[in-house]
Amino acid sequence: MFRAVVDAGAAQLSSRVRDTLLGSKESWTRRMFELAGQLRKDGGGPVHDLSLGNPSLEPPTAWRKAVVEVLEGEPPGMHRYMTNAGFPEVRAFLAQRESARYGLELNEGHVLMTVGAAGAVNVFFRAILDPGDTVMVPAPYFTEYDHYCTNVGAQLVPVRSTDAFEPDVDAMMAALTERTRAILINSPNNPTGAIYSEAVLRRLADALRAVNETRERPVVVLEDSPYRDLTYDGSDVPSMMRLYEHTALLTSHSKDLGLAGERIGYIALSPKMAGVETLARGLGFCNRVLGFVNAPALMQRVLPKVLGTPEGRVDVDVYARRCRKMAAGLRELGFEVAEPRAGFFLFPQLPESMRGQEGADVKLTDALLAKRTIVVPGTAFGVPGHLRLSMATPDAAVDGALAAFREVCS
Ligand code: PLP
Repeated sequence: MFRAVVDAGAAQLSSRVRDTLLGSKESWTRRMFELAGQLRKDGGGPVHDLSLGNPSLEPPTAWRKAVVEVLEGEPPGMHRYMTNAGFPEVRAFLAQRESARYGLELNEGHVLMTVGAAGAVNVFFRAILDPGDTVMVPAPYFTEYDHYCTNVGAQLVPVRSTDAFEPDVDAMMAALTERTRAILINSPNNPTGAIYSEAVLRRLADALRAVNETRERPVVVLEDSPYRDLTYDGSDVPSMMRLYEHTALLTSHSKDLGLAGERIGYIALSPKMAGVETLARGLGFCNRVLGFVNAPALMQRVLPKVLGTPEGRVDVDVYARRCRKMAAGLRELGFEVAEPRAGFFLFPQLPESMRGQEGADVKLTDALLAKRTIVVPGTAFGVPGHLRLSMATPDAAVDGALAAFREVCS
């Protein structure tokens, strides 16, 4: 259906957008999204939709109270244009938090407020990438990165992760070229849920320092970390901010505060980064000319009232419980599932009996669809033989999906 719509109006589109909309990765996402919608309308019973990472938990009450407080007590002029980087006092607040977290000395000049993590990645790419530059990413990865690279004429270079879904540092160094401008890492990871270990990140930092000796500009690390405050045991996630001077942390409160629709995120630059002041200016410029102009004003001002307070986050135990339940149920059916530790995604490997069969993840996706259960095949993330399951979904969908897996796989 979607293909027919695109075909009919194709002449309206640039060739790049048309090709992307009809390409394999985009059509997967679209297909699952549309199928879930169609199934909901057919009156044939509940749909168990595990396809999207759209936080199912409501924002914490502390956030609601803070919004009201901010609006009631505000002086005039709080909803106007501002400096493209965002309100200085909010950036100073976040700089102080990131400094304490990573043992660095950030000030407000090292923080830029963005329209979510997606806005942050796009602003950063626009600021540092020339057409033809490449960005390396451990695979599987959040496939929107492909589009963000294309936006600036750069290319994403996926390098397969280890079996434990950690970056394969040797493979990454072997794939590095003169055009590699940045390495993009995402931990806790979407789609795998893996948290990268400090040992592996340290090896990556050392390897990059050796590479930097041979080039004029250092390779930049972008750490996209919107799930870092959703660890199940409350532990801190190892970070390149502590280990490698040329690192920028990109994050948002889409997931940990359940505010995906409010579009609030930020970039925090390591103060040790080469040319950090100039880069910060470039980021502000790109925030403007990409059309974001600045991050939403009200959401910026609410953050200092919410972050770090006891009630200032969603109840991650809900996601943890669902992930563990699903993981245990799938293991009984022969799937290999890593112990869930953060976020709300699982990336189970298909049972032994299905492995090695061409398109097995896609076939299983179709079989589950026939049971009104919507998942995304690993193929959509460049790693076949797996499924991606989002537990940001009601408990009933988890139970319904598990029942469907049992019917299909046992
Ligand atoms: N980065 C990763 C790894 C994500 O999973 C997502 C959303 O799913 C984003 C970035 C985009 O987040 P935001 O809604 O804050 O733009």
